[in-house]
Amino acid sequence: MSVYDPPNPVCPTHGERLRRSTCPACNAAYMRSYLKTQRRLKPAVALHSRARQRAARRGLPFNLRVGDVIVPTVCPALGIPILIGPTRSPYSPSLDRIRPGLGYVRGNTRVISDKANRLKGTLDAEGLIRRAVQSVDQRREDYARLAAYLERELLLAEVRRKAGQEGRAGVEWAKVAAFLDKAFQKADWPR
Ligand SMILES: [Zn+2]
Repeated sequence: MSVYDPPNPVCPTHGERLRRSTCPACNAAYMRSYLKTQRRLKPAVALHSRARQRAARRGLPFNLRVGDVIVPTVCPALGIPILIGPTRSPYSPSLDRIRPGLGYVRGNTRVISDKANRLKGTLDAEGLIRRAVQSVDQRREDYARLAAYLERELLLAEVRRKAGQEGRAGVEWAKVAAFLDKAFQKADWPR
């Protein structure tokens, strides 16, 4: 089961065995569930297909599934809200390649704000720290936050690598990876 599998719609009369053609409550339950899924999936679908096009254009590896693209409500890097809207803004969701050269592969992407992704560019953690040192005020804080974000993600990548090993140890590392992944997604870091 992926995070995008919604609970089955339920009718007060018919339960999960919907009779949409004859029961308005069944149909309403179905539509509520459908729209809820669409709202959640659409930004991810859009990011996924844009990433696939970009990967093809630039000859980058791509193996993401839509379910790998999780759009958070808060930018995991900068702590600003992520807003879904018709026009692009600094708050728009944007798919970061944690290590740009690896491409759009599972475990190497995270949805962050457009602002965060533009500031990060292709800088590595050291480059981000250098920018923080050279900047002042909010910009300094932004670059420092981006460096911390990248360090977290690189740590997670290392844990995932260890999760790939055989046997019991691999299983335990995988649990840690899952925990970290969830924590980094949520990213309610104080501002
Ligand atoms: Zn019904």
